[in-house]
Formats: sequence, C-alpha cells, structure tokens
Amino acid sequence: MRGSKDPLEARKGLIFWFANYNRGNGPVFSIRPTGLKRLVITFKFGAYAAACVEHTKSHASREDFLLANAFFEQLDHEYGLRINGKPFGPNWEISSDLKIEATRKISERISRESIVETVNLVMVPIVASVAELVGYEEKGNEAEEAVPDEEGSISHALTLKRERSIRNRLLCLSIHGDQCGVCGFQPSDLYGSDMPSILEVHHIEPLSEVEQPRAYDPKTDLIPLCPNCHRAIHKRRPAYTPAELKELLHT
Ligand SMILES: [Zn+2]
Ligand SMILES: [Zn+2]
Repeated sequence: MRGSKDPLEARKGLIFWFANYNRGNGPVFSIRPTGLKRLVITFKFGAYAAACVEHTKSHASREDFLLANAFFEQLDHEYGLRINGKPFGPNWEISSDLKIEATRKISERISRESIVETVNLVMVPIVASVAELVGYEEKGNEAEEAVPDEEGSISHALTLKRERSIRNRLLCLSIHGDQCGVCGFQPSDLYGSDMPSILEVHHIEPLSEVEQPRAYDPKTDLIPLCPNCHRAIHKRRPAYTPAELKELLHT
C-alpha cells in the first residue's frame, strides 16, 4: 500500500491505494477527520472500477461474499458502516460506485496515535476484505507449501490457505479476542500490547471432513490458537478438536 496527504480535499485527510495500481486508478481508501473527535474511513473503487468489479464477480466465491459480509457486520457493530450513504444491511453488493464508510469516535482530540490506531482497527480490516474480494494474491511461500503430496492433501492445502488468509485472521481475532482458544495464552501478557499478535487461526472442521460444501461461520469454525497449540492440534490428521487438545493439557 502507498499513502499520502490528500491534496484534493479542503479538509486534511490521508489517502491510501494499492501499490500495484497508479494512484487514483485502483481502489482508494481515505481517512479524514470530521469534527474534533471523529475519523471517517472511506473506501471507493478508483477509475478502473469496472475492471475491479468484473474481476471480483468472476473471482469471488459465495463463501468469499459471506465472509466479507460477516466481516462488515463486525465493523458495522462498532463503527456504523454505511454503504453508498445508507446504513449497512445484508443486501449490499459489489458495484463500480460502491462506497464504504466507517466512523470511529475517539476519546481525545485527533492525534498521530489515534490515526494510526484507526488505520489498524478500521482501515486494515476493510482493506483485507476488499483485497480478498477483488482477488489480490497473498504473497508468500504458500504455493510451495500447497503442493499436493498425498491423497487428501489438496483439501489440507486449502485448509492451510484459509488459515493463512489475512481476512480470516482479522475476523477470527476480532470475534474471539487475542487469546488462545485452548490454553488461554494472551500474547500481550508476555510481549506487551505494542507487539502485533502472534496468534494463528485454526479452521476447526476442515472441508475434507464436511460432506456437503458449506460456507463456514467464523464464530464457530475459526478459533485463535497460540503457535504451540496450533502445532499440537495438527499433530494428528484429522486434527484434534480443541476440546481433545484441552484434555491433553497438563494444568
Ligand atoms: Zn495455546
Ligand atoms: Zn490449524
């Protein structure tokens, strides 16, 4: 992502765009003060909106939409999401004039810290949902690790891919909190709250074990685990359930 001050706006704001688009061409995010103690975060497709929308429609699955919807519901709960000027509802859809707006009230006057905090709490989740809907690939050694090597490993690779999804991670942590779902470890207790969370997302019921394909519910299907518990839970295939692993814990 790249960012700069927005020279087009009378009120000072910051704008951000994906680095692989020229500024103003692709999806654009902005963050602007309104009043003394509110920040408004806005998302719009840029000049190539039609191409973005087309790509989203051909790329995103029903499940992608359901998850994006679950994510927006979470954000709406805290930051009163507005879609094209109207309060958020379940019937939103991707269109070239899509505009998503969230408002964050802050307790102090607007400062550098409150802007950074708002970027992390509100803008990053919106960026993650939009990036996954539009279909930006996550870079990493995922491709290498996703090479099928035995029967059933394609669905296993798919499960791992889902567990690594930035959006699933943000959604899971925002629903369940930054705490291991098996041993209760809270990273901030050990490393302080400035450290980005080291918790990982575990997908409880891999699709390989599901008879009928279905969209999962991030509230019940995704659980945050500390790296130790996550390793341990995958020591058996199929994985242990969180309850089984809890039984194994020496307390
Ligand atoms: Zn744990
Ligand atoms: Zn896992």
